[in-house]
Amino acid sequence: MLPLTLHGERLSVLCLGAHSDDIEIGVGGTLISLIDEARPIDIHWCVLSASGPRAQEALEAANILLRGASTTNIELATFRDGYFNRQGAELKDWFEILKTRISPDVIFTHRRDDAHQDHREVWQLTWNTFRDHLILEYEIPKWDGDLGQPNAYVPLSKAALERKIAILMEAFGTQRSKDWFDPATFMGLARLRGMECRAPEGYAEGFTMRKLVLAVR
Ligand SMILES: [Zn+2]
Repeated sequence: MLPLTLHGERLSVLCLGAHSDDIEIGVGGTLISLIDEARPIDIHWCVLSASGPRAQEALEAANILLRGASTTNIELATFRDGYFNRQGAELKDWFEILKTRISPDVIFTHRRDDAHQDHREVWQLTWNTFRDHLILEYEIPKWDGDLGQPNAYVPLSKAALERKIAILMEAFGTQRSKDWFDPATFMGLARLRGMECRAPEGYAEGFTMRKLVLAVR
């Protein structure tokens, strides 16, 4: 098991999500665990499509989940939900500006093989934009049945997972019409990922690590 940072080292994290609940679903447990470790951690959190009631939800959930981080920066953009592939130029500009402002140690973004077109657009722009960074792609369960085989895992405590799920259930009222959006979905997926990596408490979040550069000194 590799540590994400050397003990106590400051960690700078960028989280990218197309919609207001994506980051929480994909990487919420990992972020809660990192913050609980009490290491210095700076988190830059970007939701690309958050307007109207979803903006308020996104802000509230991020603020609760990130409580305890050393610094947080929450950015909400207003790209049109479901139409990211028609807003390519504007999205590209947004990413180019983001790149000039930050240089994180690790980036969490959507998976290449995600069935949602907005998610894939964010995936592509992440890789186009950030060439010298560790990128981990998180997964979002959905009706399409697009889950794959992760090759990187973060084991979670049961308490961290329960906190993630509680935040999801409390914060995202607009999602409740989706029949899959319930604790059993999130608990079940985390249990499977925990089984796959032999997590001590049985739960984990899974990621795709597409490229890894190793230093020998
Ligand atoms: Zn989404």
